[in-house]
Amino acid sequence: MVLFEQQDFLAQTLANPTNSLPFEQRTLDNGTQIRLLDTGIVEVQPAAPQGKNIVLSCAVHGNETAPIEIVNQLLNDILSGSVVCQHRLLLLMGNPQAMVAGTRGIEENMNRLFSGAHSKGVDSLNRERARAKQLEQAVKSFFEAGEGERFHYDLHTAIRDSKREKFAVYPFRHGKPWRKEQIRFLAGCGVNTILLSHSPTTTFSYFSSNEFGADAFTVELGKVKPFGQNDMSRFEACLAQLRLLVANEPLMMPELSESVVFDVAQVINKHSEDFRFTFSDDAANFSEFAPDTVLANEDGNAIRVGDKAESIIFPNANVAIGQRALLTVVPTEIGTDFE
Ligand SMILES: [Zn+2]
Repeated sequence: MVLFEQQDFLAQTLANPTNSLPFEQRTLDNGTQIRLLDTGIVEVQPAAPQGKNIVLSCAVHGNETAPIEIVNQLLNDILSGSVVCQHRLLLLMGNPQAMVAGTRGIEENMNRLFSGAHSKGVDSLNRERARAKQLEQAVKSFFEAGEGERFHYDLHTAIRDSKREKFAVYPFRHGKPWRKEQIRFLAGCGVNTILLSHSPTTTFSYFSSNEFGADAFTVELGKVKPFGQNDMSRFEACLAQLRLLVANEPLMMPELSESVVFDVAQVINKHSEDFRFTFSDDAANFSEFAPDTVLANEDGNAIRVGDKAESIIFPNANVAIGQRALLTVVPTEIGTDFE
C-alpha cells in the first residue's frame, strides 16, 4: 500500500479511529515528503522549506465537518501536485473517534483540555484527554524541529446560527501586541470578525500561542453540517488562502478596515446546576443585549450586561460545573495595542 493512494487522509482516519497507525512516509515527484505520524496526524516536509511552520487542525470537535473537508482537500491538492507545499506543515484531525460517531466529543469537550488540562485532577486519561495530550506532543515536536515563524489555525464550525457567519478568537497574548497582518490574513480567509481574548484558557490555539509563540487562532467558519451537506462554496475563500499560504504565494490581504474587532467583555462560568439563561436556547451568536440586561440567573444571583451593550458568543447552559457557559463581547478599535 502506498500512503494515501488507496485511501485519502479523511477515509484513512475514519477507518482507523482507535488504532495507533505505524509511521509511514512517501516522497512525491516534486520532492515533498508526506509523513503519517499517527491516526489523523500528517506532516508535510517540503524539499526546500521556506521558513514558516504551519499547523492546521480540524475536528477537535468531531462533527465539525467543513474544516475536515478543507484540510483533506488541501492534502489531496498537495498529493496530486496541484499545490506545491513550500512550508513545513502539520495537519491534524483532532478527534477521530468523535468524527466516526458524528458527535462533538465522546466523553468531553476536547477544546478545554490543552495546556496540560488533560492530566489535571484525573488518575487515568479518557479518550479526549489522551488525544489532547498526543496532539500537544505532535505540535511541540513539529514546532521545535523547524526554524522560523510559527502559525496554528484551529478550524471549527459552530453549533448555532451566528449574526456574523465567520469569526476567529485571538487567544490572550499576555500583553504582546495583536498583529494586524494576521487580522488581514484571516479577512482573506473570509473571516472578518475577530474576538480579542484577555485571559488564559485551555483551548488548542491558546496552547500554541502561549507555549510556542505561534500566531494562533480558533477559527469559526460557519454552522455545523453532516458530511456531504456542506456548501463548500462558503469555504472557498478559506481553502484558497490556505493553498496560497502553504505554496508561499502572495496572500489575499484585505485592508484592516474590512475587519471588525471585539474585546471579550465577560467570561461567564457555570457554578451551579441552577444556572439558567434568560434568552432562548437557540439565540444566535452575536445577538446583542442592552446595558444592564440580565443574561442569566444562578443561585438567586442575576448575571448582567455591563454599562455598554454586549453581544453573546457560545452560550451553553449544559456545560459541566466550572466550565464556561457564555462569552460576551463589545466592539473595540484597532489601536495602539496592535502592531
Ligand atoms: Zn468547534
